[in-house]
Amino acid sequence: MENCIFCKIIAGEIPSDILYQDEKVIAFKDIKPVAPVHVLLVPKEHIENIYELNDSNAHVLLDIHRVMKKIVKDMGLEDKGFRLITNCGSDAGQTVPHLHFHLIGGKNLGMSII
Ligand code: AMP
Ligand code: ZN
Repeated sequence: MENCIFCKIIAGEIPSDILYQDEKVIAFKDIKPVAPVHVLLVPKEHIENIYELNDSNAHVLLDIHRVMKKIVKDMGLEDKGFRLITNCGSDAGQTVPHLHFHLIGGKNLGMSII
């Protein structure tokens, strides 16, 4: 997708701190981390947000889940816990219109919903 920053990261056109990637998913560090661990889990397929998923592409959730478990383990978060967030649309503050999940942890995140 032209002009999509995450598609450019996926294509290797702009640099990022990639922790893992396979055919379906890329995981890289958020450029503005809000916690010691802040990783973005991104399907390689350009889908605007979670509301745009349907029966034909919702399988990306399983791919994201698989990579989420790997990163959680690699980062040693499996006992302490973490937060997994996806913003959808303007009221949620979605700034990059390519589906992604924020995996956040490494400190006590409190009770906030964000
Ligand atoms: P959202 O606001 O939910 O759309 O999240 C977009 C996230 O992408 C923000 O947390 C940004 O800090 C992050 N971000 C934007 N550009 C980059 C980049 N080039 N590399 C890594 N993370 C980025
Ligand atoms: Zn994209």
